Amino acid sequence: MTDTNQYDVIIVGGSYAGLSAAMALGRLLKSVLIIDSGLPSNRQTPHSHNFITQDGQTPAEIARKAREQVLAYQTVNFYQGLAISGKKTSNGFEITTASHDTFSGKKLIFATGIKDIMPDVNEIEACWGKSVIHCPFCHGYEFKDKKTAILANSDKAVHLASLVGNLTKDITVLTNAPANFTLEQREQLARNHIAIIETPITAIKHQNGYLESVRFQDDATLDVQVMYAAVAFEQHCSIPKDLGCELTETGYIKVDAFQKTSIDGVYACGDNTNMFRSVSAAVATGSMAGAMVVKALTEELFLTSPEKSIQD
Ligand SMILES: Cc1cc2nc3c(=O)[nH]c(=O)nc-3n(C[C@H](O)[C@H](O)[C@H](O)COP(=O)(O)OP(=O)(O)OC[C@H]3O[C@@H](n4cnc5c(N)ncnc54)[C@H](O)[C@@H]3O)c2cc1C
Repeated sequence: MTDTNQYDVIIVGGSYAGLSAAMALGRLLKSVLIIDSGLPSNRQTPHSHNFITQDGQTPAEIARKAREQVLAYQTVNFYQGLAISGKKTSNGFEITTASHDTFSGKKLIFATGIKDIMPDVNEIEACWGKSVIHCPFCHGYEFKDKKTAILANSDKAVHLASLVGNLTKDITVLTNAPANFTLEQREQLARNHIAIIETPITAIKHQNGYLESVRFQDDATLDVQVMYAAVAFEQHCSIPKDLGCELTETGYIKVDAFQKTSIDGVYACGDNTNMFRSVSAAVATGSMAGAMVVKALTEELFLTSPEKSIQD
């Protein structure tokens, strides 16, 4: 870490997106501080899938290897801790951590991810990422042909059920509330032999996070081995919003095609900006953010350096 606590770039969030941004910056010799609180959203899942070269690897091992490779660049520094506030200054931004350390950066990148909000179902948290899953691309293959539930309602339920129909023909949609489907959607589900249960769920039974059955308010039970759940989320970090970054209607940080937020000098990447939730997308948008910050710094320093006559 530098003595001055002054960096070209501060990256808040040092998981896949943040590390990928740091690599692009480090390779162009920019001084970078990554601040990370160590809570990536996939931390409970035993194996990560659908990212070439790392298929089936543990999430922690992918992150460990990424950290090792990124921190090999001498201008990149890592701080373990929680960023709690940020403010604009005359020449950039300041970020303060929970341990009262303050760092300055000319630019900021938020790679802070999102926080999943579990539905009020007893024991669902213990199964999250193991047998209660968010995405058929990440974990569906491992549960092909299994007894499957979709915990969702309306358009989301139809979308998930149709995708998961590629993997199993044994699907039940659990709306956990009065079902909200159009007649056409009900017909589509029925044509594909997908039952709908509206009775609220009270608990799930599992062994070490692996589902066995779902219990409903009327005491009925349904044997299932996997549940796809469309759960609510919120931003993991409130600093972008505090700095004035606009959010989309669905709660993501609004960015342009180059990962720039609505606030000049502030960029965001990974899950906090993007509903295509995967390690590969986090890495891709992180790499874009890193490159775009290099471009902005370059334009400020190199392209606008004071004029000098060519005879000098
Ligand atoms: C259960 C589950 C299983 C998944 N399985 C797969 C899979 O198999 N394959 C796949 O491709 N994708 C999978 N995903 C999606 C994948 O995990 C995410 O897309 C990916 O983690 C996003 O990376 P990120 O860097 O944007 O955010 P995250 O990995 O969530 O990391 C955000 C980081 O920012 C830090 N942070 C947040 N706020 C602060 C703060 N204020 N100060 C300091 N640090 C902060 C957090 O501690 C965390 O380390 C899964 C997701 C879940 C929820």
